[in-house]
Amino acid sequence: MKESIESNIKIGISACLMGQPVRFNGGHKRSRFCTDVLSKYFEFVGVCPEVGIGMSTPRQAIRLMSENADDSNIRAVGSDDASLDVTEQLIDYAEQKASEMNDLCGFIFMQKSPSCGVYGVKRYLANGHPEGTTSGIFAREFIARHPLLPVEEAGRLNDDALRENFMVRVYTYHEWTSFRQQGLTPASLIDFHSRYKYLVMAHSLVHYKSMGQLLANLTRDTLEHIADEYFEQLMTALAKPASRKMHTNTLMHLQGYLKNLVTAQDKQELTGIIEQYRTGIVPLIVPLTLLKHHLNHHEEANAYARQQVYLNPHPYELGLRNSL
Ligand code: SF4
Repeated sequence: MKESIESNIKIGISACLMGQPVRFNGGHKRSRFCTDVLSKYFEFVGVCPEVGIGMSTPRQAIRLMSENADDSNIRAVGSDDASLDVTEQLIDYAEQKASEMNDLCGFIFMQKSPSCGVYGVKRYLANGHPEGTTSGIFAREFIARHPLLPVEEAGRLNDDALRENFMVRVYTYHEWTSFRQQGLTPASLIDFHSRYKYLVMAHSLVHYKSMGQLLANLTRDTLEHIADEYFEQLMTALAKPASRKMHTNTLMHLQGYLKNLVTAQDKQELTGIIEQYRTGIVPLIVPLTLLKHHLNHHEEANAYARQQVYLNPHPYELGLRNSL
């Protein structure tokens, strides 16, 4: 079971989301979800790349400009005066911060920003016409140096599925980091995977299979290499939010551990509630709570099932599965 508070989990964040008045216009973009809710669980490390490279507040806004209608020669230039070009400074700053901030378990970026946006940042042609979309320079460079780090935009965290998925990835990343600090053995890696199996199943059956195959032969390479490959597959699998269909499949597999342990009536009730979840009548928390109730009542017989991270991937109090 996850503890409610794990303040040792560090999350990078665009400083304006923390309410710092660092935007080009002297304002901020405070995210109440981050400052009022997530700050109880995480230690936020704020960074404003534009201020970090020495730009003043307030300042001329910048935007992304490309002559080729693609990212091949994209530049971060002043919106009013294109001779102001801060591309190289932003790249250098991202490199510096990526090296300094190497103990993060996630990063929440400000959307739409030519520095911090991850998805759908406007790209302009030299004549000033908006042409396509891309990533902000700082975000792109930071992510390239931490490709497995869970990242999300603050705006996208308003989406229930994306919010839950980000939290699953952050807690997984944190647990893996702690796990690796404890020293790696074949048994510990197998044990780690045995707890993550059903979480992976809910996100990707392809990875569920390939990760099982990867760990089936621990002598084909060094354990370090296999562990690195395992983690890459794990984070890739979790990057895609679990669908209702995949959750239903996982719930049914876990229900299998109750076979011969619960009465026919209890089994019928659980099956019915999983079906209600499948058809969208009740949220995920409903079948999960009943499933956990039965698993907890048959403690000895279900040690394997009860240890599954899938049952408690993040603090219950956040209520992240109440709306899935
Ligand atoms: S979006 Fe990024 S660069 Fe812009 S004000 Fe916020 S932290 Fe600074």
